[in-house]
Amino acid sequence: MADSEVNEHLFKVLVVGDASVGKTSIIKRFVHGIFSSNYKATIGVDFALKVVQWDDNTVVRLQLWDIAGQERYGNMTRVYFRESVGGFVVFDVTARKSFEAVERWLSDLVEKVRLPSGEPIPIVLLANKVDLLDDEGEAFMKDEELAELVGRFGITAVFATSAKQDIGINEASSALIEAILENE
Ligand code: GDP
Ligand code: MG
Repeated sequence: MADSEVNEHLFKVLVVGDASVGKTSIIKRFVHGIFSSNYKATIGVDFALKVVQWDDNTVVRLQLWDIAGQERYGNMTRVYFRESVGGFVVFDVTARKSFEAVERWLSDLVEKVRLPSGEPIPIVLLANKVDLLDDEGEAFMKDEELAELVGRFGITAVFATSAKQDIGINEASSALIEAILENE
């Protein structure tokens, strides 16, 4: 029967941002439901797969590509970007420098990655480690610079997250999946 058909999607999603902003921790939280304060720094690229039952007839497999921030992409650039359909750009709300680097990461994604249609991939920005702020990132979310970046790069959404306290990660992923599905 047509209405019992299950649509399965495999989406390659890039996770970028400076070193130690919490990229690997966010992925571990999202995929395995755990947090540990002593992960080894990612070397090169790591992959993780998260299977999401999106609705009754849609299963989404997110293949998350985690990269070591300090090394940039090295000589893996083309392999890393190829066929990706969405991205998370992560910064640490307690590290100003990691926020300043967001613009560079966004420029990179916009310049180097395109969907087959020629459109840029949808990007969701994650303001991570909000557990370390007293206001759960509220002040940050109203930041004018942040609003400017969102407008200029056409960012899909911004979420305050915490891998430690499991804040905002599922919501952010849903927003990205929704945007990716709209491009299908
Ligand atoms: P990556 O280099 O971007 O992959 O960052 P990691 O995931 O390795 O995290 C770097 C450090 O920040 C580790 O000590 C993590 O435990 C810590 N960390 C990551 N996410 C959070 C968070 O949401 N809150 C807090 N308090 N610490 C975090
Ligand atoms: Mg890492």
